[in-house]
Amino acid sequence: RKFVFVTGGVMSGLGKGITAASTGRLLSNAGFDVTAVKIDPYLNVDAGTMNPYQHGEVYVLKDGGEVDLDLGNYERFLGVDMTSDHNVTTGKVYQNVIESERAGDYLGETVQVIPHITNDIKRRIREAAEGSDVCLVEIGGTVGDIEGMPYLEALRQFAHEQDDEDILFTHVTLVPYSKNGEQKTKPTQHSVKELRSIGLQPDILVGRSEDELDAKTKEKIALFCDVPTDAVFSNPDVEDVYHVPLMVEEEGLDEYVMQELDLQDEALPPEER
Ligand code: ADP
Repeated sequence: RKFVFVTGGVMSGLGKGITAASTGRLLSNAGFDVTAVKIDPYLNVDAGTMNPYQHGEVYVLKDGGEVDLDLGNYERFLGVDMTSDHNVTTGKVYQNVIESERAGDYLGETVQVIPHITNDIKRRIREAAEGSDVCLVEIGGTVGDIEGMPYLEALRQFAHEQDDEDILFTHVTLVPYSKNGEQKTKPTQHSVKELRSIGLQPDILVGRSEDELDAKTKEKIALFCDVPTDAVFSNPDVEDVYHVPLMVEEEGLDEYVMQELDLQDEALPPEER
């Protein structure tokens, strides 16, 4: 089974969810069973009690799970039904670990973020991925947030435990324009530096920007973030987010992801997608 982890840099609300869902849509077009896990690093157990003015509407799943609206993107983009197990929150993870501790499951061990919380996170990802060929895992928030740290550590361990060709890290960052109309890569460089400081090296970079990334911008990002130039993709502003899968397909995101995950031989030929 393959895993695509999607992290975000610079700021939240960038389009990580849409980027992840679009990647999933293209893999599902290529004939793979795709599912997704959304990680929300807040202490609420679920989104049901959160103020919609702050957080957007609560999305209700078929099993009654009250979850982040990103799960709605996944259901619509991938054409699959999710369950509340596909939304991992810090509240759920800690609640389970603390209940297990009270039940004596840890047999006197000191219960800690590493390994108890990180093990629970890894278990949830593996369980939610069961039955799929590819599981997208989106980490809410921005790299560097204190709340996200246990998840990034869990992903580092997860990647260490799997074969290289089963894991892909996609990092979505903001590429702003300077006043003189130049695309600036420094925020991207800083967020990749932050990722690397916790032991994660992105395989793919997706630049959210007003327009497509220039060839020069892509080369610069590739050089400073240590990825090939063809691993840098654009995700410019569009009127309708349902155009994003087509847009990234044109740039070859699906082919690159399949090549990196060693899925090309199993994929449907392009004319049958
Ligand atoms: P994140 O997961 O990073 O918080 P989302 O994927 O939920 O971000 O996207 C945040 C907002 O930006 C949503 O309203 C989404 O519809 C919008 N969005 C995402 N990608 C694009 C794009 N390429 N063009 C225009 N709007 C976008």
